Amino acid sequence: MFLNPRRLYSRTSSFFTFPSFSKAAKEDRGDVAYQTIFAIQPLSAGTFAILPLANKVLERLTKIIDHEFQAIDGQKIVLPSLSHSQLWRKSGRWDRYGPVLFRVTDRAGQEFCLGPTHEETVTQCIAALEISSVGTKLPIRLYQTSWKFRDEDRPKRGLLRAREFLMADMYSFDSDLEKCQETYDTVTGAYDRIFNRIGLPFVRVLASSGDMGGSVSHEYHYCSPHGEDVVYACGTCEHKINGEALKDANDTRCPSCSSEMQKLQGIEVGHTFILGDTYSKLFGAKSFQNGQNLPLQMGCYGIGVTRIMSAAAHILSQGLKLKLPDAIAPFTVGVIGPKQGSREYEDLNPRAMEMADQLDRILPSHRVIFDDRKWSIGRKLLELKSSGIPHQVVLGKNGLELHSPDTEFTNVDGPEVIHNFFKELVVKRELL
Ligand SMILES: [Zn+2]
Repeated sequence: MFLNPRRLYSRTSSFFTFPSFSKAAKEDRGDVAYQTIFAIQPLSAGTFAILPLANKVLERLTKIIDHEFQAIDGQKIVLPSLSHSQLWRKSGRWDRYGPVLFRVTDRAGQEFCLGPTHEETVTQCIAALEISSVGTKLPIRLYQTSWKFRDEDRPKRGLLRAREFLMADMYSFDSDLEKCQETYDTVTGAYDRIFNRIGLPFVRVLASSGDMGGSVSHEYHYCSPHGEDVVYACGTCEHKINGEALKDANDTRCPSCSSEMQKLQGIEVGHTFILGDTYSKLFGAKSFQNGQNLPLQMGCYGIGVTRIMSAAAHILSQGLKLKLPDAIAPFTVGVIGPKQGSREYEDLNPRAMEMADQLDRILPSHRVIFDDRKWSIGRKLLELKSSGIPHQVVLGKNGLELHSPDTEFTNVDGPEVIHNFFKELVVKRELL
């Protein structure tokens, strides 16, 4: 017997803060588009409540990252947000980090920071585990996805420069530099796959290691006029570099082929480093090899999750209309039946609900929403299209229709055409 009484698709009428466009926005920007559909709510300078629609986007991003990191043997952990000042004094970053470090003092007068990153914490943890004595296998690839903190002087541009932001950070430990470089290549390979799956064009550029220490570093950028970073790309060869990493700021010729490089504005969404033994030496994170304890060679890797969400909206949205790529859209498809009270409602509405149910079985993890508001088809279509939901299926007196960013099918001959379209989409976009 068929036992599945659960309705798994969502309905607009019961979805918390689903768009109604009643709130006028003053500015024409990605985060404003989110705010207009009540997906994020600013609370104080640089802090935001992430409401259900935007949280679904963050969950989708997190899933893609989990999938690709676990494919390269990354294992997920949780590190505390509170990090003791002792650790940061040991690395010298308590002073070097300056005013952007959020500092708090406990009742006993001990100082902590709210972690903007976790090199000290994770290296201390590895050192305390004394992995060389318990024979833990290398490499170690640990990562977390957690809220990080920066005391921005003037937080602005919404989630692009917030004081509290979601980041996925991986830390790798290898026995020697050669293996560390291999791990670096493996992890940056996973980065390429993550950014390819998200579906927005990106560039990977050489970067300076800044106050992180270490020898090799790359950044991942979305090119956009909203970007605050300047990157240079050579059109002749593949050389790409952050403006800050140029040896001479006035010399923008490609160091590999001497062509003049193109200047681009970028939003930084990822940063990877080979740190070597900078932290492991300080904290005593060692492995036993060739008869002696040697410091582990370390890499660290960060992806800005809330920043990708915000950047995608900035780049793709038009005015107040939120647009997002298939892979991270809160819902992939909105299903719309005939207007309540219309002549065809009794007959067609159950079939529209049936379509929502079938699509929910084809698409993974809650990607279907059924619009049951008492509005005309046209109004529902317009609002769903402007809510970051890429595809709409309509069943009304004009028959079955599919509205997609690239294709519009009207008078679709049978539901199988729609089913097949979404089956192919799942495969093509590797939807999770
Ligand atoms: Zn070149």
